[in-house]
Amino acid sequence: MSYYNPPRFKNLFDPKSKQPFVLSRSKIDSFIKCPRCFYLDRRLGLGEPPMPSFTLNDAVDTLMKKEFDILRAKSMRHALMEKYNIDAVPLVHSELANWRDDNHKYLGATTFHKKTNFIISGIVDDVWVAPDKTLFIVDYKSTSTTKEISLDDEYKQGYKRQVEIYQWIFRQKGFKVSDTAYFVFANAQKNNEKFDGKLEFLVNIIAYKGSDNWVESTIEKIRACLENDTIPDYSPNCDFCKYRLAGQKLESKTPAKNNSATIIKQTETPIGTKIKQKEEKLTKQSLF
Ligand code: SF4
Repeated sequence: MSYYNPPRFKNLFDPKSKQPFVLSRSKIDSFIKCPRCFYLDRRLGLGEPPMPSFTLNDAVDTLMKKEFDILRAKSMRHALMEKYNIDAVPLVHSELANWRDDNHKYLGATTFHKKTNFIISGIVDDVWVAPDKTLFIVDYKSTSTTKEISLDDEYKQGYKRQVEIYQWIFRQKGFKVSDTAYFVFANAQKNNEKFDGKLEFLVNIIAYKGSDNWVESTIEKIRACLENDTIPDYSPNCDFCKYRLAGQKLESKTPAKNNSATIIKQTETPIGTKIKQKEEKLTKQSLF
């Protein structure tokens, strides 16, 4: 069964609107990866098809939160924090549940950026606090690898941007925030003789010194991108677009029962028609 029914008509950027536009940290990352996909999503409502959630990772996150919450209630350091000489305790704050999105409002910590009229949001896993009230952004990660864990892989550059955006958000909120963020990695071990209904994890902490000096300029570029009536270009190294373009060529040469025009007609609504006309006006080139 398909749950995907594009285009979406909610949460679209409207250049004429005076209402603040909510921009999550994951959408900022999406813009960095490919302004075109970002534009199709936030301006035209063509988001990526949804993925099933990573339920095992979610389970690890939930249990880690519970573990740190026990210590939060006692203002105590975790044994790992002692092992890694981190002079801090899990933060107690009346807003923490919102920042962590414990109530599934999908907003997290927010700050209003006046210049772009954006509300920048990000859901943090945890925040620790030093005796001098400096905050540390903390992110829990789950993996399963026999290699030494590092932040050097290409896809982990997104992890770094993630905590840097959080650091920026909390600074905008008036907190003193350390450049150092901590990743708590839970690494599922695979060398046990058998499963026995349990996974064992090695947990370690990786410190990362971030810099948020790119965040503000990127948010301004995002505003300019969304205001523009032209769709940005493809990212040259994207396998999905290579796949789409190759598919388009093959489909144009081969008769097919259904074409995309028929599918769009089936899903059109009065508002959909309006958006579609707008898309056609915006895109003389093909979307992909
Ligand atoms: S290159 Fe194409 S598929 Fe890839 S991210 Fe950009 S718009 Fe999306």
